[in-house]
Amino acid sequence: MKTNILLTLYLLIPFSLTAQNEKELNIRILISGNNKQVTLNTYGDVIVSDASARKFRLVPNATYIMKPDSDNFLYLSKEKLSSPVDFYVPDGKNFLKINGKRYRGRLTAISHKDGYINVVEEIPFEKYLMGVLAPEMGPDWPLEALKAQAVASRTYAARLIRKGSDYDIGSDTAHQVYTGMEKINDKIIQAVNSTKGEVLYYNGRMITAFFHACCGGRTTTPSSAFSGDIIKPLRGVSDPYCKTSNHYEWEIEIPQDELLSFIQKKGSTALKLNSVKIFSKDKSGRAVKLSFYTDKGVFKAETKDLRKEFGAFEFKSTFITKVEKIKKEYVFYGKGWGHGVGMCQEGAKNMAQKGFNYKKILSFYYPGARITDIAKFFSYK
Ligand SMILES: [Zn+2]
Repeated sequence: MKTNILLTLYLLIPFSLTAQNEKELNIRILISGNNKQVTLNTYGDVIVSDASARKFRLVPNATYIMKPDSDNFLYLSKEKLSSPVDFYVPDGKNFLKINGKRYRGRLTAISHKDGYINVVEEIPFEKYLMGVLAPEMGPDWPLEALKAQAVASRTYAARLIRKGSDYDIGSDTAHQVYTGMEKINDKIIQAVNSTKGEVLYYNGRMITAFFHACCGGRTTTPSSAFSGDIIKPLRGVSDPYCKTSNHYEWEIEIPQDELLSFIQKKGSTALKLNSVKIFSKDKSGRAVKLSFYTDKGVFKAETKDLRKEFGAFEFKSTFITKVEKIKKEYVFYGKGWGHGVGMCQEGAKNMAQKGFNYKKILSFYYPGARITDIAKFFSYK
């Protein structure tokens, strides 16, 4: 692959940057956030248009490096362009890569004065959902579980549309994971198309349809995991369906000196840690606070802060069942993976395998919520 190729002026063939159907509902996704450098690969034609209305065509099969200059300019390889800069694949079939992942929508790179670039993709809403199902569940998951995820993800994202300035939604676990065109197969396309426009609502409003990897036997309320109102569909249920999941039970060993520095960062003056116990639990059984017994008395810390400190992939949930001291380490035994609110994906998978359809899965995890057409909440179509 050629690298560092300059832009060529694009003058001859007319094209339109507003070819999208205006009636279609689009969503803007932050596909690369707060990066000091972004890699762009072209395959076929890519049209670039900057804020000064200069238009270029990029060289096919090339690699370009984007770097911020100031809040008004960015570099695309050696070319200085006015931010924001739009990228558009004119034939609609092709794609370009950003940081190694394929995207097909219209992309905008925005330079910020703090020295980083955001890249936002704007894409029809239903197509966006295909890029969510692939990483959030996977192309080999059962169809009815994928359909349940499509409705949950559609509802979750719909509440964020037109709320942000540069973009509507992120592409990592802070919202829901989106990886562009990667790993989309026929089953995923079918799951989205066969539930087209379907969203969950309760009391006349779309719900915030939270979901997570595995609940460990009981889901919890948003107020327990983050904050917010408790509505019936998000009150939490007992889940017998995820017991066979690999994430149902887990443990993590943390050296005592790392726990000591964690509580010191949180404000403790302790120099020695003697033991750790669960201080309080929410209704679902998740540990809200832990007590750290030290040479300077008892220090209490939130379990969710411990998760943040030691990593959500290792410290999988706040559903701690036991803490044990073994020599110079503490072993935390826990259940489930994720915040535990809304649909349990591992449970949904098992329900689908047992023959439940997606509507049954959704009504189990969001009791009282009903399905309606998204057009009820958006003035389009
Ligand atoms: Zn579960």
